[in-house]
Amino acid sequence: MPGGSLPLLAGNWKMNGLANSAAELLKIIEASPGLADKVQLMICPPATLVVGFASLAQGTAVAIGGQDCHSDPFGAFTGDISAEMLKDAGAAAVIVGHSERRSDHCETDSEVRRKAAAAWRAGLTAIVCIGETRAQREAGETIRLIRGQLEQSLPDGATADNVVVAYEPVWAIGTGLTPTPPDIGEVHGFIRQQLVSRYGQAGHEIRILYGGSVKPSNAAELLRVEEVNGALVGGASLKAGDFLGIAAAYR
Ligand code: PEP
Repeated sequence: MPGGSLPLLAGNWKMNGLANSAAELLKIIEASPGLADKVQLMICPPATLVVGFASLAQGTAVAIGGQDCHSDPFGAFTGDISAEMLKDAGAAAVIVGHSERRSDHCETDSEVRRKAAAAWRAGLTAIVCIGETRAQREAGETIRLIRGQLEQSLPDGATADNVVVAYEPVWAIGTGLTPTPPDIGEVHGFIRQQLVSRYGQAGHEIRILYGGSVKPSNAAELLRVEEVNGALVGGASLKAGDFLGIAAAYR
């Protein structure tokens, strides 16, 4: 998935969606030509739907992504899927290090880094998620935590084509709560600084998404914050109307 200069709006369906959910994807595909020069659209359905969605989206402006991958290309890892399998199924990208993977599956930064490298090995863009918990924010540890997650979760050699960073405060995911625009701006500005100091010119071009309770009613305010280059959207990506309502912030 080429980086490009457009913002990215990626929908993370998590463990939601059956075959008949293709109807939502088709509505997004239908609306996508009118948005194609303003925002890049992506849907990350559960693994069971990746092949079917990728075939529906083929040749359209909507990309399909996975939600996680194993770091090995194949092997005896019951229940896991590899980055190569996602690529083979038609995905262009994969989310790695989502907070639900970090907390429910005890994923560490170094594991996330291996998964990001696996995504590159397979030719996928890695959408690498980072973000602080409520306790960490209240303890004033946000910036320190973000610095560590960036250093340890991102492999060397990141470019705008192979990486997207998603800043997702854990306490904002699925709660209806969001940081204030200045708080988001502070973290995104810090992430930008870190990316530039580690990756040089590429660090200016890597997209930094905000994620956490983005919906049509707050999208315009959150997405115009400096250094916010799009959003990773959970709940509000399940209905095409809501997802397109968020995309409308870029009209
Ligand atoms: C997410 O899980 O990536 C997310 C941002 O969820 P929500 O939009 O529902 O807060």
